[in-house]
Amino acid sequence: MKTVKPLPSRREFLHKFALGGAAFALGAGALHGQHDRKTSSENLPAPGTRKLGVALMGLGRYSAGELAPALQKTVHCRLAGVITGDAAKGRAWSEQYGFSRDNIYSYDTIASIANNPEIDIIYVVTPPGLHRDHVLASAKAGKHVICEKPMANSVAECDEMIAACREARVQLSIGYRLAFEPHHLELDRLARTREFGPFTRITGSYGFRQTRRSWRMNKKLAGGGPLMDVGIYVLQAAVRAAGGVSPLAVHAQELPKTNPDLFNEVEEGIRFRLEFPEGAVCEGATSYGERMSGFRAEADGGWFELQPAYSYRGIDGSTSRGPLDVPKNVPQQALQMDDFALCAATGRPTRVPGEMGRQHLAIIEAIYEAARTGGRVELRA
Ligand code: NAD
Repeated sequence: MKTVKPLPSRREFLHKFALGGAAFALGAGALHGQHDRKTSSENLPAPGTRKLGVALMGLGRYSAGELAPALQKTVHCRLAGVITGDAAKGRAWSEQYGFSRDNIYSYDTIASIANNPEIDIIYVVTPPGLHRDHVLASAKAGKHVICEKPMANSVAECDEMIAACREARVQLSIGYRLAFEPHHLELDRLARTREFGPFTRITGSYGFRQTRRSWRMNKKLAGGGPLMDVGIYVLQAAVRAAGGVSPLAVHAQELPKTNPDLFNEVEEGIRFRLEFPEGAVCEGATSYGERMSGFRAEADGGWFELQPAYSYRGIDGSTSRGPLDVPKNVPQQALQMDDFALCAATGRPTRVPGEMGRQHLAIIEAIYEAARTGGRVELRA
């Protein structure tokens, strides 16, 4: 029987990915190939000498509920400032988290962050329709950028964002926390090693009930409906299972609306089929009308399944060998931000770059086109 290398314990995992990150960072840099361009990491201290300063832009639910608390657990970065339209909120945050009031900015004063050496990274956590402008402004201020998902409203915007960060010699990463989550890393490993053979039959769904109007129903701010917001996680996992490559073509169908008044600008739900090279197919669904969270990938020699599959906490799963024995409930956002801080400090490329955000936007654009035309849409290279 084939021997399987045991997976690291939660402690070993955290040590490898966060506490001992500098050593890991250099190793991973070699794996990914080094940047051939210099980044503004030249201006940063050696890793470990100080925590890099992160400024959160947009103090909504995700910043307040997840990112700011996660920044209390990070080893290589800290919450050093905010960009907010609400000055009183900024002052309350500076009291609560102990950063200087000088590090409170508004959306109109982003350019002056260029003169603030306490801020190394700007984390854009505003609605997707604003990501392009906010990433461009952050790059212009000479700061490394993390941009929340979905990266932008269109591939064209993604291209502008990637170009602006390249021009400013800053790194750009996407807030893909699941790239640091052990169950999803195990999916990566199985896809890479092909221990079960290549995954060929993939299914996934992610949805929850939205009953209150917000920017998520506003086409200009959200770019689309649940596909942009949560369906993107199904795409990510499917692309992972297929070994990182994009599908060659997609089919899609918008689902009937149960609440057409609320979803008058964006879809309420959509089903899609992704056809990957080598014959793998993913059937996916996403919805704002129904709660669902699952992922399954089958190969001829075994299968991999997650349920729930994409949440901040509680991800669980099994394979045809039995329950997945990986660390549960790791601090995904802390691992993600620590890893990026090391990328910024060392020049190592992030494993979740703007190019990956762009790849997913290209798939999303093709899905919307397929739903609109009712046909098969091939992805442009
Ligand atoms: P939210 O509505 O709670 O917060 C949005 C923030 O943007 C608010 O502080 C708001 O004041 C600010 N903002 C600035 N200009 C605005 C405008 N013109 N209209 C509306 N808001 C404006 O939203 P959220 O749930 O925190 O989502 C923010 C981003 O984070 C989105 O891109 C979302 O997809 C992403 N997100 C990611 C995850 C994840 O797990 N990675 C989870 C939740 C949200």
